Amino acid sequence: MKTYPDHIPSWFTDRFTSFLWHKDRMEPVVYLTFDDGPTPEVTAFVLELLKSFYFYATFFWIGDCVKKNPAIYKDVLQKGHAVGNHTHNHLNSWSVLRSRYLRNVDKAARFIESNLFRPPYGKLSYRKYKAILERGYEIVLWDVLSGDFDTNRKPASILENLYANTQNGSIIVFHDSKKCFETLKEVLPAYFSFLKEKGLTSKSLV
Ligand SMILES: [Zn+2]
Repeated sequence: MKTYPDHIPSWFTDRFTSFLWHKDRMEPVVYLTFDDGPTPEVTAFVLELLKSFYFYATFFWIGDCVKKNPAIYKDVLQKGHAVGNHTHNHLNSWSVLRSRYLRNVDKAARFIESNLFRPPYGKLSYRKYKAILERGYEIVLWDVLSGDFDTNRKPASILENLYANTQNGSIIVFHDSKKCFETLKEVLPAYFSFLKEKGLTSKSLV
């Protein structure tokens, strides 16, 4: 059974203005984001495809994975994409103490130089997000969740969601992780073509 929303409606996002859910609804631009990498083979596939469409993206990466793949990190920045902090070990905010969580964010910051932060699972308790804002981060969530991580979901259903919910200014979540690779290979080329046909381009968040 599906337990996550494909789309976050504006009546909800408008109530939580400390977070970035989407950008300007008037501009024909979307913001593709890829979480949980870098994963050499998967990230390379994503980068090649972005390049062929002249799209730019933001990668919310795990500090420990960046530590192990410093060349990919440098390459992505050099290509004009952005990288944000997604904690050092993909911690769930609801399962760990604030002090440990913040230490983990700080540890990731040793490898990821960015003022963008996305909490793993989109979960962040009140005191933790206050502390993260105080550290100078912008907290980036999304308005469209692709569902690429859902191994029970067919690519056609993921595309249907993306086609129905993408708007000007949308921030869309994908994952450049091994688990999502097969799905990405099917979904991303079709979705990027759709964006292009709609006259939309993708920019990075910085
Ligand atoms: Zn994640």
